[in-house]
Amino acid sequence: MKRAQKKKDQVKIAQVKAPATKAVPAESANRLRFFLDRKDAITETIRQLVEIESPSDNKPAVDRLGALLAGRFEGLGGHAKFHRTQDFGDHLQVDFATERSGKPVLLLGHIDTVYPLGTLAGMPCRVDDGRLWGPGALDMKSGIALMLHALDGLRTWHNDSLPRPVTVLLVSDEEVGSESSRPITESLARRSAAVLVLEPSYGLKGAVKTARKGVGEYTIKVMGKAAHSGLDFDKGESAIVELARQITAISKLVDVKRGLTLNVGLISGGTRTNVIPAQATASLDVRVARMKDAPGIDRQLRALRPFNRKCKLEIKGGINRPPMERTAGVAALYRQASEIAKRLGWKLEEASVGGGSDGNFTANLGIPTLDGLGGVGEGAHATHEYVAISELPRRAALLAELIESV
Ligand SMILES: [Zn+2]
Repeated sequence: MKRAQKKKDQVKIAQVKAPATKAVPAESANRLRFFLDRKDAITETIRQLVEIESPSDNKPAVDRLGALLAGRFEGLGGHAKFHRTQDFGDHLQVDFATERSGKPVLLLGHIDTVYPLGTLAGMPCRVDDGRLWGPGALDMKSGIALMLHALDGLRTWHNDSLPRPVTVLLVSDEEVGSESSRPITESLARRSAAVLVLEPSYGLKGAVKTARKGVGEYTIKVMGKAAHSGLDFDKGESAIVELARQITAISKLVDVKRGLTLNVGLISGGTRTNVIPAQATASLDVRVARMKDAPGIDRQLRALRPFNRKCKLEIKGGINRPPMERTAGVAALYRQASEIAKRLGWKLEEASVGGGSDGNFTANLGIPTLDGLGGVGEGAHATHEYVAISELPRRAALLAELIESV
């Protein structure tokens, strides 16, 4: 009887749009306590994952980690399957079906790291000063551990089941451009209500990422004409001089205010000092904050013409990761997350960053995407990479509540 009465009241409350009841903060506090009690277990999970090295270019190593994770997620009631790939580790998909129908939430991440096999020997996993150090600890093995523990929490509170369908996708090639996993990420995102990306957060305040720049790579090759620099100086056409002029032209395309940057990060050319160089190459990284700027910069790069008409230019490349723009869907998801964080007692900030992730693909499809929900720390891709242990419980609580409510 009481139950029916309560249900009726809820309907009434919803109609008049009353604020959330007082029961909510107490429940949030209980949930936070659940993860605070499991702080050591979450840390231990991260340690286990860090101690299985998984460089993008080593398939057997990445597959070892994939197998361990498939087992862990199946232990939580998920159905694991691998998308086999030849050159990279297999991508792991885990589906959690529930009695409740509806679109799943996609938890997105990657199991590969930038560290070559053997890095652990000189950069061992260790817990010290409230931090867990090690290759991939922040980017993004802590994010994977948060997925595991958030799902465990949800199952505990919902009679060994999840409150909604969830799909986990852990790809193996994110650090090298996601070429083989992109179609899988996009097809799973299309059928999802929202995408939660467990990449590391931004800064030590743990801001989530609501915008990321798009990324492109281009190569400019100059063909000149070789000649003896002493005997036949006039007969040569220097590819290096031409390339230098092109680089100056390229650097004028930068528009920092628009979030449009070009960085010539690599150059090569020539054979010897006494030979007029016949060939020179530059590789550049292009970043765009807005998708609408991508065709324009692509056109401008392809329109480069040689200053020295006797040299030839060859331009290859393109924008391969669209920007993640702060769309209305992204903003709404952030608002939801910051409400949850507020109930958990903290102010969740948002950030716009220059680096790309697989969240760029899903946001570009128009699927509400929130990135940077993973660990808090410093030194991603560097020797001092660590994750702050004290931040783990509330981030697990935030993730659990987001899964439930989006
Ligand atoms: Zn990452």
